[in-house]
Amino acid sequence: MVQRGQTDRVSDVWGARTPHAADEPWPSRVDQFLLDGYRVAWSPSACVLCSNGCGLDIAVADGRIVGVRGRVTDRVNRGRLGPKGLYGWQGQLRDRLTRPLIRRNGRLEEADWDEAMGLVVERSRALLADKGPLSHAFYTSGQLMLEEYYTLAVIGKAGLGTPHLDGNTRLCTATAAAALKETFGADGQPGSYDDVEHCDALFSFGHNVAATQTVLWARMLDRLTGADPPRHVTVDPRRTEVARRSDIHLAIRPGTNLALMNGLLQQQIEHDWVDHDYVRRHTVGYDRLAEVVADYPPRRVAELCDVSARDVEAAAEIFGTAERALSTVLQGFYQAHQATASAVAVNNLHLLRGMLGRPGAGLLQMNGQPTAQNNRETGADGDLSGFRNWDNEAHVRELAALWDVDELQIPHWAPPTHAMQIFRYVEQGSINLLWIAGTNPAVSLPELGRIRSALRRDSVLVVCNDGFRTETTELADVVLPAALWGEKTGTFTNADRTVHLSERAVAPPGQARSDLDIWVDYARRMGFRDRSGRPIPRWTEPEQAFDAWRECSRGRPCDYSGMSYALLRDSPGIQWPCTADAPRGTERIYLDHRFPTGDAECETDGHDLLTGAAVTAEQHAARRYDGRARLRAAHWTPPPENPAGSYPLALGTGRTVTQFHTRTKTGRVPELDRAAPDAWVELAPADAAELGITDGDLVRVESVHGAIEVTARCSGSRRGTVFVPFHYGDSEGAGRRRAANELTATAWDPVSKQPTFKSGAVRVRRIGPGRSRE
Ligand code: SF4
Repeated sequence: MVQRGQTDRVSDVWGARTPHAADEPWPSRVDQFLLDGYRVAWSPSACVLCSNGCGLDIAVADGRIVGVRGRVTDRVNRGRLGPKGLYGWQGQLRDRLTRPLIRRNGRLEEADWDEAMGLVVERSRALLADKGPLSHAFYTSGQLMLEEYYTLAVIGKAGLGTPHLDGNTRLCTATAAAALKETFGADGQPGSYDDVEHCDALFSFGHNVAATQTVLWARMLDRLTGADPPRHVTVDPRRTEVARRSDIHLAIRPGTNLALMNGLLQQQIEHDWVDHDYVRRHTVGYDRLAEVVADYPPRRVAELCDVSARDVEAAAEIFGTAERALSTVLQGFYQAHQATASAVAVNNLHLLRGMLGRPGAGLLQMNGQPTAQNNRETGADGDLSGFRNWDNEAHVRELAALWDVDELQIPHWAPPTHAMQIFRYVEQGSINLLWIAGTNPAVSLPELGRIRSALRRDSVLVVCNDGFRTETTELADVVLPAALWGEKTGTFTNADRTVHLSERAVAPPGQARSDLDIWVDYARRMGFRDRSGRPIPRWTEPEQAFDAWRECSRGRPCDYSGMSYALLRDSPGIQWPCTADAPRGTERIYLDHRFPTGDAECETDGHDLLTGAAVTAEQHAARRYDGRARLRAAHWTPPPENPAGSYPLALGTGRTVTQFHTRTKTGRVPELDRAAPDAWVELAPADAAELGITDGDLVRVESVHGAIEVTARCSGSRRGTVFVPFHYGDSEGAGRRRAANELTATAWDPVSKQPTFKSGAVRVRRIGPGRSRE
């Protein structure tokens, strides 16, 4: 079939440049991919294949999706789409689950909804009677819609009363949330994408934005190639496209992010680039911070991080002398050793220089998954809904009143259970009903051998909502066919707090239903009721769920109370908070430099960044933060899994530009699959030569946890390190293990509980020539 009006976004990932100077608006450029020969109707939506959330319209003809075009008026992308946004929709047209499946005699067999839900409800009731709500857990996704997350959060907390809720957002974005909470008292991005247009310095901290959010990188490139470009510093062990376009690339040794950050902070103080008046009025903790970072002069940092002291000094000077610095942070920090402490150190840099709350002075602790922000806001990740503090009785009372349930029904006697702990409880046999939605933990969680055996246990009923059969559904007991993007209505929020409404454009295939419908059906069959006898949840439709969420968020930092479906329709995207006072949303938060750190309002009292030990309410009150940001610091420590001896190479896992998550969608898209059909390991040429490996060889990569067999690419930049993309599982008929997480450890950051995918040790050996040369 011929396509018209489109550009090739695989060979030309970021598209044509539209360069411009500082403070000029970002020009528009419309990208479109449309099957030819149809008269189409356009349905408004946004892309859900990364956290950028580009606005787009879905082309519909004859009841099916036949293309997309970027929305020219949208504040996020001004019409642009990257490879996944442009082509990714095709992935959901094939191989869909259309009927519920139930495991009988070891095989998944087709069933009807009554049978499948009857089985789930029967087990759920028996477990509640026998063992109580802690026998239930939910592990969701970063791709559902706000309405679905909030519905699940209410069912889980007010209906069932279990603290065991988390999402795969734990793998990608938990550190962003943790860092924002530690410093500012609550989650929420201070910055705005428009800061790209205004900054005079751009810092990419472990953020390979050229691969992860391609349209945001196009936006940055348009500044970097325009008049008066920002100075650009990248921190990344790999020489990525972002690194290649930098003035300074700090290719640090894996596991040393915090040492480097402490060095950059030390230089701000050493050269007195500190805005002392700002620090005095708006922060607490400067003396302790200064004491810690004094131990990190450039020469020591250079030794620890294996970079030049001059580059450390030069990068620090760029930050210290900038008038408007924008920092973006992602997995190079979030999935690494001392993740939260390192991400907090980026916040500290901005606070020392008063670099917040004005155009160009931006801070984006980025998200990875497309709708991760909503998972966090609504409490489907286990936190209390609306950025409330589980350890604050008044916050619990607010929710109990809103949901009309007893306060004791809402689990708040301990912190919420994080994903790795949920799977540990499954392994130990105390969780007996695990409901997984829209994600594939049998590929994406660390140490897959353990995860597979946990999912196979007889003691747990595994229920999966998904659009496709995956490595995880193959281990499930009940599989429920889910409607996907474009087949249901709902909202989602991107990494700079921009909310889009995505309307149902086509009907879901077969008997597939939205996750909202599935969970409301479960709740109705279970008979969950509030104190007044009304059903929990009180709604059945997405717009009703959104309106309920608006009330839940009212007065909280993520305030949606001024938003509505009507307002979102035809909008260029609206950034929260959106209230009666700010009906068009809010571009940047913290304009008044008052932060939600007061005892009564904060989402957490914070933690010791080294150990994860919680700061008590009494300790917090004694510090009298009262709206001032918390400057928190920690010393660098060596990573626990250091490459040495039999495992001499440092392992990092990550993404590649054309694939998303575990390829359930992108692996089914011809353009995207062709671009990266199989897994590989990237080695530095000198390491490869020593090991007798040449480009294209089949190699075995082994850690103490497992092994994979993949193709070698001898294009790595840093000796002693290897990189493996995490998208590939075993279900595509490769006939060999190839998932990066066969190699990774069950280990997590002490504060954010995000697994440390970028701290591993492996060895590599050649098995034979690659397939193309056999
Ligand atoms: S940058 Fe992200 S949101 Fe935008 S089109 Fe690409 S995958 Fe979709």
